Amino acid sequence: MVIEEYLASTKEVTCEKCKEPIVQGALAKNYFVCPKCGKYNKIPARARVELITDDGSFKELWQEVVTGNPIDFPEYEEKSTKARDTSHENEGVICGTAKIKGTECCIYVMEPKFMMGSMGTIVGDKIAALFEYAIEHGLPVVGYAASGGARMQEGMLSLMQMAKVSGAIKLHNDAGLFYMVCVTDPTTGGVTASFAMLGDVIIGEPGALVGFAGKRVIEQVTGETLPAGFQSAEFQLENGFLDDIVRRNDQRDYIGAMLKIHSSDNESDMPRMRFHELHLKGHETDYKNFASNAFARLKEIIHN
Ligand SMILES: [Zn+2]
Repeated sequence: MVIEEYLASTKEVTCEKCKEPIVQGALAKNYFVCPKCGKYNKIPARARVELITDDGSFKELWQEVVTGNPIDFPEYEEKSTKARDTSHENEGVICGTAKIKGTECCIYVMEPKFMMGSMGTIVGDKIAALFEYAIEHGLPVVGYAASGGARMQEGMLSLMQMAKVSGAIKLHNDAGLFYMVCVTDPTTGGVTASFAMLGDVIIGEPGALVGFAGKRVIEQVTGETLPAGFQSAEFQLENGFLDDIVRRNDQRDYIGAMLKIHSSDNESDMPRMRFHELHLKGHETDYKNFASNAFARLKEIIHN
C-alpha cells in the first residue's frame, strides 16, 4: 500500500509552487494539494492508482518491462537507471486492470518522476497493449496523462508511439468501447498531440499545464503575444479542448459515474453514448448526483 506510506510519512517536503514546507503525510491526506496555496502537487503514479481504484482491485500488467537503449543514445542507460531509482518504477507508465466504484476497467497512469513521464517506446508499447487487452476483454480504458512529451533519447522511435497508440485507440473506439482520460500537470508535446486528447471524455485537474509546444516557442514562431493563462486546464476548457475540470477528491466518483453510464449493464435503456458529441456542458457540479443528472440530461436530449 503505497498511499499508506505517504499518509504515515512525517518527512518534510516543499510545495512545488509556493515552496512552503509541508509534512508529507498532511500533503497526502489532502490529495497532494498544497493546503497553503492550493497547488496540485504531483502524485506518484502508484499512489494515484490506489486513490482512484477500488481497494485491492488493481492487477498490474507488464510491470517488469524495462527500457533498453534503442538508438544507442549517449548516457541513456545511466539516465533511465537513475529514473528507476527516483521513481521506484520500471518505466514512465503503470498499466493494469482494476475496478472503479465497482466497474471493471483498464487503467494507465503516467509517472511524472520517470524522466518527466516522457513517451519512449516502452511507454507506447504498454499503452497500446493495454488498449488491445481492453478490446479483447471488452473493457473501457481510464487514463491519467502526465508527460513532458516525446523522449528525446529515443529519437524518431519515440515520435512513432503517437501513431501506434492512436491506432490502438481507434480500434478500441471501433469496438464501441469507452475511453476517458484525465490530463494532469504537465501534459504536453506528443502525448497531448495523441492519446491524451483522444478520449471520449477528457477531464483535467485545476491549474494543470496542458498544451503542445511551450508558450515562449509559440510566441517566437508566430510573433504574437499569447493571452494570460494560456495552456492552463481552465483555458483549454474555455476553448473546448477539455470537457470538464474535476477536483482530485471528486475524481473517483466522477470517473466511476462515467464508467457506469457507459457500461453495458447500466440500468437505463439508453445505448452507450459519447459525451463530447452531446455537449453536456453546464451540468450540475454536484458529483454525488452526477450520474442521475447526466442521465436526465441525456434523456432530455434524446426525446427532443
Ligand atoms: Zn503551495
